Amino acid sequence: MAGGPSLGPGEADVRALDGVLGDPFRPRRRPTRVVRVGDVAIGGDEPIRLQSMTNTDTMDTAATVAQIERLAAVGCEIVRVTAPSIREAENLREIKRVLGERGVHVPLVADIHFTPNAAMIAAGLVEKVRINPGNYADKKKFEVREYDDTQYAAEIERVAERFRPLVRRCRENGVAMRIGTNHGSLSDRILNRFGDTAEGMVESALEFLDVCEDEAYRDVVFSMKASNTQVAIQAYRLLAARLERRRPGEPSYPFHVGVTEAGDAEDGRIKSAIGIGALLEDGLGDTIRVSLTEDPVREIPVARAIAARAEAIWRGRSLEGGSEVVRLRSRAAADPFAHVRRASTTTKWGALELGGEAPVRVELDLPGGADVDPEVMAAQLTTELSSLRDVACESLLVRLDAGDGAADWLVRLATGLASLGADWPISVEVAAEDAAFWTHGPPALAGTGRGGRVVVRVDESTPVDRLAVVAERAARHRLAVEWSLDAPGPAIPACVARLVASTEVASIGLRPEATLHDHRVLAAALHEASARDWPIVLHQAVARDPELGLIDASVRLGGLLCDGIGDVVSMGCAGAKGAAAAVDLAYRVLQGARQRTTRTEYISCPSCGRTLFDLEETTARIKARTAHLSGVKIAVMGCIVNGPGEMADADFGYVGSGVGQVTLYVGQHVVARAVPEAQAPDRLVELIRDHGRWRETSDGPEPA
Ligand code: SF4
Repeated sequence: MAGGPSLGPGEADVRALDGVLGDPFRPRRRPTRVVRVGDVAIGGDEPIRLQSMTNTDTMDTAATVAQIERLAAVGCEIVRVTAPSIREAENLREIKRVLGERGVHVPLVADIHFTPNAAMIAAGLVEKVRINPGNYADKKKFEVREYDDTQYAAEIERVAERFRPLVRRCRENGVAMRIGTNHGSLSDRILNRFGDTAEGMVESALEFLDVCEDEAYRDVVFSMKASNTQVAIQAYRLLAARLERRRPGEPSYPFHVGVTEAGDAEDGRIKSAIGIGALLEDGLGDTIRVSLTEDPVREIPVARAIAARAEAIWRGRSLEGGSEVVRLRSRAAADPFAHVRRASTTTKWGALELGGEAPVRVELDLPGGADVDPEVMAAQLTTELSSLRDVACESLLVRLDAGDGAADWLVRLATGLASLGADWPISVEVAAEDAAFWTHGPPALAGTGRGGRVVVRVDESTPVDRLAVVAERAARHRLAVEWSLDAPGPAIPACVARLVASTEVASIGLRPEATLHDHRVLAAALHEASARDWPIVLHQAVARDPELGLIDASVRLGGLLCDGIGDVVSMGCAGAKGAAAAVDLAYRVLQGARQRTTRTEYISCPSCGRTLFDLEETTARIKARTAHLSGVKIAVMGCIVNGPGEMADADFGYVGSGVGQVTLYVGQHVVARAVPEAQAPDRLVELIRDHGRWRETSDGPEPA
């Protein structure tokens, strides 16, 4: 490769990102200019705009209008419509006309891939045009080709000349543009120089921005989508840094944030919430789209919940005092442009290893005590959790305020669980001052042979000598300690320093209400206090509303895990009923954040006007056959034009290639063309078998 390998993001990028966000522990909304899309303004102090995309045939005016109307009715503020060729681009005029007659004035975006001619037409008809730098003027043939610097510069010039007319037309017509890079559809030229990286995504977009700025056109919005949540987060951060470096201190271009090919149902919602939510928590994002392989109308409530959560945080966040109080090296805990798991020491809770190289563990956190019968709880728990397939609860935490009765209660719970064959270590949470517990609890817990750790609630006022007594007493009974800090973010560093003075090695966590940023403070404070090796437990509050609980767990836990923070996920649960759902959610979030793979990974496009089959139904059929193949990545894509590029790192691909026809892939290689749709699922299963990735289900023979 001529021109030398890219050095990747460096210190200057980290400083630039810090400059944009203000303070990584209490970031502000990224300052941007306002871009108008018809009557809807994006960026600046405007609300986060919700958008979606039609999946009807753009030539079917009635169906497309009806879907846009339904989307507008549920609060979708901008609607994208695919324009794969000149015909569809022309038909946007008719769609606009009928919408106008029906009093629907939601702005439209033409989605363009490979067809600059269609873009030129659309720029005269709709409010915004989306182009993909990977395929606007470059081809994607999976060619390996070496470019020297002269050839590379000539290629950029060729692309710029192809793109310039569209920029001029958009400027003259007052039409906005999204430069929308997708991880899976980078051009061969970019792949050749930067590889399949966040940096390649960013550079690909900035080449197009150069042309826009050259033409004094600034109505630009950017996106950096990937189905891998870590890549998406890193790419948006790097873009924010590189834009800041181009014009330091100036409000920059707004971001359209999304995770592409997220799939459907819970997993689609979780992946979207992790990627979009983690970025919004840091103030990055001005308009969002949740891509689900479902009716697009169902995307809007999910998008609204994610946006509402971020806006509440932005409103409630005081910028004063953050950096003043938390005088820590800002990036002590994580590299914002790469996933590096925070290093921690391998620790044991009973027989369970955590931290170090151990996978991120999953724990259930339940209320115990005088109001709960421990034998009934043991029976309910074992019944509930036996319904889980391929995933398991690994530790049990009970919260006790049982005073004198605590020791007896724990023994009865441990005996009940043992009689039912459950072997989780049992941990208990108490206050440091609970004198009755500290007399009888540790010996009783240790005596059960199931003792895990004692989770000790401490705050800013807990006396240091009390901490030392507690630590010594737990150690005497061979119980581990977790300090559970109940302190606001700015007080965390001082508390950590006192805890480190009282204990050599412990695990540590914050209260379930603590924010993502509080946890960043904790990780950085541990680093500063030379206790960088203490495992961190992420406590998640009991979900009162299942849908909001799913979004909160995804954003908070997923955002931290994508940054490498967290060794245990401890899921709050109101009682034994609901335990299976809590454990299941934890594993789904871990998979969405790419930390633990325990189920089949599906990469399915949301479908659009190019789609060649019923994607929702087809995905459901394929899932029914393959949902037990833990770790296998299967892509289900609606069209051959974009599908193969966008299915990224799938092991097997099922791609619509004609009416009633499917092309099957192994990795990026075609292995069967024009397979009749009725036979395609069987052929896919055969392929998985031939490549040694099939296994029978634990429940018996292969599902039909
Ligand atoms: S892969 Fe799916 S969403 Fe993307 S263009 Fe093709 S059909 Fe549309």
